[in-house]
Amino acid sequence: MSRAYNFCAGPAALPESVLKQAQEELVDFQGLGLSLMEMSHRAPEVVAVAKQAEVDLRELMAIPENYKVLFLQGGASSQFSMIPMNLLGDKKTADYVNTGQWSKKAIKEAQRFCDVNVVATDEANNFTRVPAFDSWNLNSDAAYLHYTPNETIGGVEFDFIPDVDVPLVADLSSTILSRPIDVSKFALIYAGAQKNIGPAGITVVIVREDFIGNTLPGTPAMFDYKIHADNDSMYNTPPTYGWYLAGLVFAWLKGQGGVEAMEALNRAKQEKLYSFIDNSGFYSNPVAVNNRSWMNVPFTLADASLDALFLQKAEDARLLNLKGHRSVGGMRASIYNAVPMDAIDTLIAFMSDFEKEQG
Ligand SMILES: *Cc1c(COP(=O)(O)O)cnc(C)c1O
Repeated sequence: MSRAYNFCAGPAALPESVLKQAQEELVDFQGLGLSLMEMSHRAPEVVAVAKQAEVDLRELMAIPENYKVLFLQGGASSQFSMIPMNLLGDKKTADYVNTGQWSKKAIKEAQRFCDVNVVATDEANNFTRVPAFDSWNLNSDAAYLHYTPNETIGGVEFDFIPDVDVPLVADLSSTILSRPIDVSKFALIYAGAQKNIGPAGITVVIVREDFIGNTLPGTPAMFDYKIHADNDSMYNTPPTYGWYLAGLVFAWLKGQGGVEAMEALNRAKQEKLYSFIDNSGFYSNPVAVNNRSWMNVPFTLADASLDALFLQKAEDARLLNLKGHRSVGGMRASIYNAVPMDAIDTLIAFMSDFEKEQG
């Protein structure tokens, strides 16, 4: 049985070669006679896998020396509360940009810990653009500014890095490693693995050292970056297998030419798909052109009563997981690093045929 094209928003497609390597090594890791899954996280072979993953991620993202890379659990959603717990310090307020469903969740969680100043929101436009930077209501006394560079559900992406005076925090869950990014501009970057890194169950946090070690009183150990940093993310049992798979993906990315090569490929992939959508009279995308996501492409059909038929026929053509998020409806094609150009071409051919039959 051959592999289908998977446009899932997350957990998302993984490179086939990574899955094959994992399969080969699954039962007997490095001739040790057991699976990596069955080994102690303190075993030198497992520690080596974990360390190499960090080395490769540091190289891919050119992460400066004064940043710690943590491999945690709890998903990006846990970071919504860990960030205020670790970064507020003596401050009583933090700035948040509201560009969609993930921003809203981050804001809601931060409100447990501080006054949240929403510097800008695009809710009135149904989250279809990033509010212009010069309209933001910034607070110079904020502990940090949090934003979501790519809103996975709405398919809305920032075309700039906010230039603010307070520490910058970014939820890069669905866009990390899709192109180069200047890590030194951020106090903290975080990403759940299941979009562009590996399987669900691991969360990468990249945090500048001086933002570690100043938690709110009463912060539990598992929510304290310092505890994790001091223990090389092995304070408790880490998700060893997810960490290993993330490492395989990092090695795969290096083999593909790194994030520069990914940028070229991802740019071409999204250009092709949006240009097809824009040139059709049948499909449309509501997002402002300069804020269209490279990774998540939502689109609607001219006649929503054809949605179910579209999805059924797509599935028959082995184009999977194109249904839009339940909160917005329509379709969404997530085209992360592991989704090849062939998948885009096949999807466009399918959409074109469907339009001819039904449009
Ligand atoms: C998927 C996603 C999340 C939630 O990730 P979990 O790992 O499920 O907690 C948060 N933010 C963004 C931008 C996402 O895409």
